[in-house]
Amino acid sequence: MENTDVLIIGAGAAGLMAAYTLSKAGKKVVVLEACNRTGGRIHTLHNTSFFNHAELGAEFVHGDLPVTSSLLKKAGLTYHAASGQMWHYSNGQFKQDQNMTEGWDELIEQLHKLEHDLSLNEFLKQYFPDDSHQKLCESVRRYAAGYDTADPEKLSAFAMRDEWESEDDSAQYRIDNGYCSLIDYLSKEIKHSDGQIFLNAAVDQVTWKPGKVNVITTDGDAYEAKKVIFAIPLGVWQASPKAKGKITIQPEIPSHFAALQKLGFGAIIKVLLQFDEAFWEHVDVSAFHGEKLGDTMFLFSDEKIPTWWTQLPQHSSLLTGWLGGPAAVKLSGYTNQQIMHEAVASIAHIFNYDVEVLKEKLLTWHVANWTAEPYVYGSYAYDTVHTTESLELLNKPVDGTLFFAGEFMYQGPSMGTVEAALTSGLKVAEQMI
Ligand SMILES: Cc1cc2nc3c(=O)[nH]c(=O)nc-3n(C[C@H](O)[C@H](O)[C@H](O)COP(=O)(O)OP(=O)(O)OC[C@H]3O[C@@H](n4cnc5c(N)ncnc54)[C@H](O)[C@@H]3O)c2cc1C
Repeated sequence: MENTDVLIIGAGAAGLMAAYTLSKAGKKVVVLEACNRTGGRIHTLHNTSFFNHAELGAEFVHGDLPVTSSLLKKAGLTYHAASGQMWHYSNGQFKQDQNMTEGWDELIEQLHKLEHDLSLNEFLKQYFPDDSHQKLCESVRRYAAGYDTADPEKLSAFAMRDEWESEDDSAQYRIDNGYCSLIDYLSKEIKHSDGQIFLNAAVDQVTWKPGKVNVITTDGDAYEAKKVIFAIPLGVWQASPKAKGKITIQPEIPSHFAALQKLGFGAIIKVLLQFDEAFWEHVDVSAFHGEKLGDTMFLFSDEKIPTWWTQLPQHSSLLTGWLGGPAAVKLSGYTNQQIMHEAVASIAHIFNYDVEVLKEKLLTWHVANWTAEPYVYGSYAYDTVHTTESLELLNKPVDGTLFFAGEFMYQGPSMGTVEAALTSGLKVAEQMI
């Protein structure tokens, strides 16, 4: 390994994109991945008895995104628009068009008047403290937890404002053969360019001096290179010292470590429930609620697992449940069986089923409790009041030798996405080249 130019720790979208770009530029790269698969938070379940291309992690391409689109094109991968109706279920009723919550305009106006950033909760407490604002505050917190998977105690009010302003309704897509086909393309190209990817190689220690890095895995394997890119999730940087994936760095880099602790990392549990039929499309069910739900893509509710979606435009009996933010942290200690039960109970309540009867209709299920998942410990990054300052430091390599990559390193409109991870990987590689 003596001639290795760059060691890359983590074979998610960011690490692989960096390896792909560097190896194409003639650099000798070695990627070390803790798990027995590449992809990280991209994990497509293939060829299982019921699920086909079911996504445990990333699922949508959120619009026409430059780096993702260009890569899809290079890889010759096809994708399709994922669209359908949005429904809200509350107090026993389905409603399609949710009127804007009362007070929303005032909230946006107040956000614009803010001169200094503060956390979303602090903002709501200061400017919307009355009982009359309760519904508005709940709705804002629900959005922050559901969409950003964030803790409103830490989420930046400025970030929320910017997100609402840049909200775009452009189409979302699903990759026809699953998100992992993008990962497979990158891995194949890296190997074609003589790059190496080692699985089951959890990095434990990194010792370094300018221009030289020594890495040891938990199995005691040693690697050496001129530079290293840490492309591990923010959740690992923020996890307790004994957590799987933690890396000790000698000499220490305390200011970078402190900067990493100040960023926000969300929590998520995703649940896949495959039923014996798409009963929500069933005429009787539609008739019972007085509405037609056959074209439902997203269903939002106040249930314990509140957000659900279908596989539209493909007809499928798979329902995907989504619980983000502090509520996901609370449930993350449950067993998968308990989480599945909560998910079925949520659906049973919405569609007026007996829970046990609905369980009999369940063919298979899968709980992706990413918040409890070793080597990840959460969903994706969100901005805190310290993010800009922290990223400024983290984006500068340490003595031209230690580099950081990952979705959390991205600043722009696609925060927390695969696009963010790919862009970060590309950027760090270009910085090196
Ligand atoms: C449930 C869920 C749904 C999502 N949905 C979407 C979506 O629809 N669209 C979208 O664009 N984005 C989505 N995202 C976000 C997207 O998946 C991530 O932003 C992106 O995949 C992160 O890539 P990454 O390379 O930064 O990190 P990761 O993919 O997490 O890769 C980091 C890698 O580092 C490895 N690692 C950790 N510690 C060590 C160690 N010590 N040694 C070696 N390796 C180590 C990990 O095993 C992992 O493989 C979703 C995320 C989740 C969790």
